[in-house]
Amino acid sequence: MAVGKLSGSTHKFAFIDSHCHLDFDELADDLAMHIKTAHGAGVERFVVPGVTLKQSLELVEFQAHHPECEIAAGLHPYFIGEHCDDDMAALVEHVMHNRTQLCAIGECGIDTTCDALERQIALFEAHIALSNQVKLPLIVHHRKSHHLIAAAFKRVKPQYGGVIHAFSGSKQQAEYYIAQGFKLGVGGTITYPRGEKTAQAISQLPLESLVLETDAPSMPLHGYQGKPNSPKRVVQVFDRLCEYRSETPSELAAALYRNTTQLFGLG
Ligand SMILES: [Zn+2]
Repeated sequence: MAVGKLSGSTHKFAFIDSHCHLDFDELADDLAMHIKTAHGAGVERFVVPGVTLKQSLELVEFQAHHPECEIAAGLHPYFIGEHCDDDMAALVEHVMHNRTQLCAIGECGIDTTCDALERQIALFEAHIALSNQVKLPLIVHHRKSHHLIAAAFKRVKPQYGGVIHAFSGSKQQAEYYIAQGFKLGVGGTITYPRGEKTAQAISQLPLESLVLETDAPSMPLHGYQGKPNSPKRVVQVFDRLCEYRSETPSELAAALYRNTTQLFGLG
């Protein structure tokens, strides 16, 4: 449980980092330390997405050693150059065989700063279809691609919702995703001055639509640029979110925890 400072008062809450890549090389050398310090800060559980076929397969073994981690399976657009033509079929097979160990399909999505946009779109739609088939939520990566994601949702409608990871955008964009059954991942973006628009949007959204995340080791918080991000910093994202929300910190922490367990079907 965490004991942190917030506006001069002390808080003690439990958190889930709903999106962190604890299996990535950047964290491997100090993984035990990252998990221990996160636990010490109140971050009890972690959701670790899949990003390539090989790594998605390896996550099953990773979880066996780290039972505090929930795992997903997906082909991330960032690695579009590494995904082979057969990888989606193999991913489907993997998901079918390991359905009970998985909490989501993803990380998948569309990133217009990466190559092969048409192929990204086709892969993303295949992930949506898979999510519908196995009744698991989606973990969606977006970057300058809200319009393309909305177009994909029209062609293949997600039936089991999911999360828009590292949401950044307007209130209108957020409300569109909520109407599609999605929650918004609230991360380090809101700690930056340039994240003000996103923070203002998030301040006005229904409480049940928000979950906390770090994307560790990526997306370091404001003030920590250049260093690998760590799941313990979900508490600092929470502190920042408290400044934008009208609920008490206690109400907010309880709702964020509940939202995450509901989203991913965690016991
Ligand atoms: Zn990620």
